[in-house]
Amino acid sequence: MALINKLPIITEKLPGGQIILASVDFILNWSKESSLWPMSFGLACCAIEMMAAGAARYDMDRFGAGVFRASPRQCDLMIVAGTVNEKMSKRLRLLYDQMPEPKYVMAMGSCAISGGPYYYDSYNVVKGVDLIVPVDVHIPGCPPRPEALLFGLMQLQKKIKKESIKNG
Ligand code: SF4
Repeated sequence: MALINKLPIITEKLPGGQIILASVDFILNWSKESSLWPMSFGLACCAIEMMAAGAARYDMDRFGAGVFRASPRQCDLMIVAGTVNEKMSKRLRLLYDQMPEPKYVMAMGSCAISGGPYYYDSYNVVKGVDLIVPVDVHIPGCPPRPEALLFGLMQLQKKIKKESIKNG
C-alpha cells in the first residue's frame, strides 16, 4: 500500500489529524484539477469541436488541460468525442485500462452519451460509452460547442475538488 493511502489511518490517531488530512487533500486535488492531460483521441464529428476547444480561440490550456498527449500512459483524461461503435469499444476500453490512476472520462456529445442519432436502427453503435468505461461528466449536444466542453471541464474540476484520499 502506498504511503499516501496509509496517511488517513495515521492522521486519524493524531490530535488535529483531520486538518493535516484536509490540507493534503487540498494540495493533491488542486494539483490534479490544474493539470489534466487529455488523450489525443477523437472518434467522429464531435472531435472537431474538441480540437477547436484546444486551439487558440478557446484555448483549453487556460484551464490547465491543453496538453493533449499521444500516449494513454501519459494521460489522466479521456474525452470520448464522437460515435462509439462495437468494433471501437474494445480499443477504447484498452486505452482506458492503459491510463494511470487517477483518471477521468468525459462523454462529449449525444453519440458518446447514448448513441445519439444512431440510437435506433443501428446494429453497431454502442448506446452510451458508460457501458464501456465509467463516465465522470456528460456533455450534451450534437455536437456540443467548445464552450460546452469547457463548462464540462469546469464541472470535472469541481468534482475533483471534492475527492479525498480517505475514500481511496
Ligand atoms: S453527437 Fe452529433 S456531432 Fe457528435 S459525433 Fe454524434 S453525430 Fe457527430
